[in-house]
Amino acid sequence: MDLYEHQARELFEEYGILVPKAEVTDSPTGARESARRLGGRVVVKAQVKTGGRGKAGGVKLAADPAAAELTARQILGMDIKGHTVHKVMLAQPVDIDGEFYVSYVLDRASGSFLAIASAEGGMEIEEVAATRPEAVARIPIDPAEGVTTAKAAQIAEAGGLPPQTVDVLVRLWQVLTREDALLVEVNPLVRTAQGQILALDGKVTLDDNARFRQSRWGSEPTEHDEDPLEAAAAAKGLNYVKLDGEVGIIGNGAGLVMSTLDVVAGCSARPANFLDIGGGASAQVMADGLSVILSDPAVKSVFVNVFGGITACDAVADGIVQALDSVHLTKPLVVRLDGNNAVRGRAILDGRAHPLVQQATTMDGAARRAAALANATAGSAGVAGTASISGS
Ligand code: GDP
Ligand code: MN
Repeated sequence: MDLYEHQARELFEEYGILVPKAEVTDSPTGARESARRLGGRVVVKAQVKTGGRGKAGGVKLAADPAAAELTARQILGMDIKGHTVHKVMLAQPVDIDGEFYVSYVLDRASGSFLAIASAEGGMEIEEVAATRPEAVARIPIDPAEGVTTAKAAQIAEAGGLPPQTVDVLVRLWQVLTREDALLVEVNPLVRTAQGQILALDGKVTLDDNARFRQSRWGSEPTEHDEDPLEAAAAAKGLNYVKLDGEVGIIGNGAGLVMSTLDVVAGCSARPANFLDIGGGASAQVMADGLSVILSDPAVKSVFVNVFGGITACDAVADGIVQALDSVHLTKPLVVRLDGNNAVRGRAILDGRAHPLVQQATTMDGAARRAAALANATAGSAGVAGTASISGS
């Protein structure tokens, strides 16, 4: 999960890193009041979880509170790379003498952390990295040793940052490790005309696996930028990922679900999602999973692929039958039950005799069936192609 700039700023402040004094608001009049409290002249900054705000017109200087209100009115509601601006941060302007770039990032390729530093920070850093990679230093960090003062000095030296940044580099590492972050980036890290080192912008990406111990960021940040289906699934505790296709997928076990996606893709159809209902596969989980998948307008058919293990197929079939009572099934459902108690499971589903539910005994057969059903109904939406003009 990415933090907003104002949240990153708050963290930096807690770790003793200098940041401009700032306030956050969601209204133009709020911006005017904040500007007044901050001394009149402010920088108005769009709060969106994407970079390049400056170039997109999302960072503007306002000379006084009235101008701050006007500017906030322009920026609020703005679309920046697909992100709608719901809040702005008002910050005291800084007299910049030098802009630097620094980040710590988990480098999965080397299985380690990397410090990236450059004396050419600011809005052109991507251009610099692409055209003159030698201007951007990349220094591996031993995770067991971390960034000590000596290491920070080495990073500063390699990146051409002034020696006064060493203290900030050590503190940023503390942010990364103590806050369970995968990325901490400051661009620009500035030297002011008065010689202070300030973090003028910040990006922090938290490790979602550590969310349980970083609960302070809990519900607030994600709602505006998460896929709505993924958000609904997450609220129900489901392990769901939205994909681009038309065949809804439910399976038990991540490996089985992954191969289900492959098999469906091999049947000239595209999976609409990944959903692993895990070992339990209770009626509630089945109902929750079905309701999320059925609320996806792209879904034309659903494939439930279950291999009974400790949770036997008859229990899963009971779950499906109960789910059919609470969920209004609007799309064809193909069920493949195999493994422990498969025969009893199939009998339970046969007994329910729901007109939209059909069974298949093999994974390949079920995938073909679900793909064919999806392609049959996809014609009208123009998804599966223009070849099927015949029908109606
Ligand atoms: P980004 O475009 O999303 O990375 O937004 P930043 O917060 O990094 O701001 C973009 C640029 O605006 C910075 O690189 C600075 O050059 C400039 N900027 C931001 N805040 C200030 C400030 O307080 N004073 C001055 N002089 N420039 C600023
Ligand atoms: Mn920036």
